[in-house]
Amino acid sequence: MTRGVPVARTVAALRRAVARYRAAGETIALVPTMGALHAGHLSLVRRARRRADRVVVSIFVNPTQFAPSEDFDSYPRTFAADLAALRDVSADLVWAPASVEEMYPPGFATRVVPAGPAAVGLEDAFRPHFFAGVATVVTKLLLQCLPDVAVFGEKDFQQLRVVERIVADLNIPVRIIGAPTVREADGLAMSSRNVYLSAEQRAVAATLYATLSACAEKIREGQRIAAVMRQGRRAIERAGFRLDYLEARHAGTLEPIASLAEGPVRLLVAARLGATRLIDNIAV
Ligand code: AMP
Repeated sequence: MTRGVPVARTVAALRRAVARYRAAGETIALVPTMGALHAGHLSLVRRARRRADRVVVSIFVNPTQFAPSEDFDSYPRTFAADLAALRDVSADLVWAPASVEEMYPPGFATRVVPAGPAAVGLEDAFRPHFFAGVATVVTKLLLQCLPDVAVFGEKDFQQLRVVERIVADLNIPVRIIGAPTVREADGLAMSSRNVYLSAEQRAVAATLYATLSACAEKIREGQRIAAVMRQGRRAIERAGFRLDYLEARHAGTLEPIASLAEGPVRLLVAARLGATRLIDNIAV
């Protein structure tokens, strides 16, 4: 029988494990997750493996990035299956705080509140609590582990840009690596929240990526971005989604962009099917 992946339950245990790696002269990669791991998460772990001697995967469903109305309580938690999957991809250590209090002890009073790419009217407009929660927990995870590199998915494209900004602004000595989105066979971006979809919603969900791809293609062919976005919004709503946004943005700054000549373009979308909110994005 192969040995399971060791689990650190306290910051002190994490730091002891990391100190042992450092004493052996090893480099460290961190992959932050909220668990309910799927092939997208595991691709991040494999990427991390190629970039460092040791891979630490954190699993923490972070309450501060959920609004009271959101799905913190019902968010899928599959710890035993996560550990088995992480053993199969040779993760070295799981950092799974024993409790919310281990991460946010009594008296906790500091928040990292990002602006810049966190204030461009995308996720921030629909989930105003979200990026301060993410920024605070990611800053803590990076400082707890002090990895050489940390891997984040392009699936959460705005989040990736926000994390890059925080690390630059706060001089956190870590290299942030973005990893491509892993998709189901029909194009749907893998997400822990896809389990919420009914069979009928699951079929509709795939049209989101199809629409994104069609929009990107039209822009590449030279059609005007504003017109393509209008058509795309209509197509998404006609398919049965409630659309939060479909936007063309500068891939670096996430500011609005009117033409391909102004820089690399990224299309970003968020849309709801019943109670489930899906996000996705694509390079043009
Ligand atoms: P989460 O557990 O949803 O917070 O995600 C943890 C990390 O996995 C984040 O960096 C996500 O961007 C990344 N991730 C989530 N879904 C995917 C996917 N389908 N492909 C690649 N990375 C992903």
